[in-house]
Amino acid sequence: MNAADLGHVLHRSITVLGSTGSVGLSTLSVIDHIRSVFGPEAFPIEALTAQSNVEKLAAQVRHFRPKAVVIGDEARLGELRNALSDTDIEIAGGAANVIEAAARPSDVVMVAIVGAAGLAPALAAVSRGAQVALANKECIVAAGEIFRLALQSSRATIIPVDSEHNAAFQVLDFAQTHAIDQVTLTASGGPFRQWSPERMAQATPEQAVAHPNWSMGAKISVDSATLMNKGLELIEAHHLFGLPADRLGVIVHPQSLVHCLITYADGSTLAHMSAPDMQTPIAYALAWPRRIASPSRRLDLASSGGLTFEQADTVRFPCLKLAQDCLRTGGLAPTILNAANEIAVKAFLGRRIGFLDIARVVEETLSAQHNAGSGVARELEFILEMDRQARDTADSVVMRMAA
Ligand code: NAD
Ligand code: MG
Repeated sequence: MNAADLGHVLHRSITVLGSTGSVGLSTLSVIDHIRSVFGPEAFPIEALTAQSNVEKLAAQVRHFRPKAVVIGDEARLGELRNALSDTDIEIAGGAANVIEAAARPSDVVMVAIVGAAGLAPALAAVSRGAQVALANKECIVAAGEIFRLALQSSRATIIPVDSEHNAAFQVLDFAQTHAIDQVTLTASGGPFRQWSPERMAQATPEQAVAHPNWSMGAKISVDSATLMNKGLELIEAHHLFGLPADRLGVIVHPQSLVHCLITYADGSTLAHMSAPDMQTPIAYALAWPRRIASPSRRLDLASSGGLTFEQADTVRFPCLKLAQDCLRTGGLAPTILNAANEIAVKAFLGRRIGFLDIARVVEETLSAQHNAGSGVARELEFILEMDRQARDTADSVVMRMAA
């Protein structure tokens, strides 16, 4: 592959929101790789942001030389300024400046912030018409309709980075969505795929974050263990591809080599395969509609030991069922689901509740807020208010369970 084949792709400027996290680090390693192949001018960095890890962020700034850097936790701004006092880089802190970073004029914005905190920054990037490489699924789950409307009135393109959606984006025939019978997302089944409920009741945060195939941040790792991740992904797929719940399915595939299957009306099923390495969908999202080299592991089917598939078990993994129900209900139900799940996962990681309590917190929050579920989800203020109320309710459920 030589630079001339790539046209202007290598000149694209990139902003990475959440650069110190798992997806953020993989994004920077793809950029490093591209620079090692095509030279240090490739993929200039406009801005980097992170929430609290000053040391890691400052080291990234020295290596990648962005024009601007933002630390979300304003209390750490002084520390970041000290660490970078010998540079002329623009330095800022606080949530509003993370949004500002997204609004800066880069060609591509990688949204790798975790949780609904990514909503406003992602929306800022979409609204100004950027190419948005979207890893953060919570923002689409919480505010899918808002993103649909924002996309309608801007020139933005969202390229999904979530591996299953990136896979679907690659094999989906957007001109013939009417001819799609089913989009099936694969799920690894997580670390507790074969555990009994009794054993899961005792599961520790360390066991839950030890994912068999993917190395990811703590929150999404717990979501993968409960299968809430797959439920959130169904809602994400509904919004990204405009397909109704009955045309979106899940199948457990423990090897994580097939990421998505699309079945068309004529009986053809097209699958996307790759080694489970986020650098592949990240490279795709940075270079789209072209393809570029990435340092990711390669698919090696001969040594894979075989591919297996099984039904997802929504009895042992009720979070998947809760999310499927919310997808069908629509309105604000997914917003509530997501907010309650964020609170429950945090409480589990903080050892305040057990693993099986995560689904209970989400279910109780949904039933306490069921009147709100049918509300209109078109106003951002309304979404944010609902998100806050659901967090309050979930917090009080956690408090009761932890007492
Ligand atoms: P992570 O926890 O490793 O990293 C999160 C990043 O967001 C960090 O840089 C952190 O500083 C920043 N951040 C955290 N809270 C913030 C806040 N309130 N405001 C601004 N920034 C904040 O998470 P991750 O595993 O990299 O996942 C990021 C997103 O990508 C999640 O939405 C996840 O569901 C999605 N995703 C991740 C993977 C993966 O392989 N890790 C795969 C698919 C999708
Ligand atoms: Mg995924």
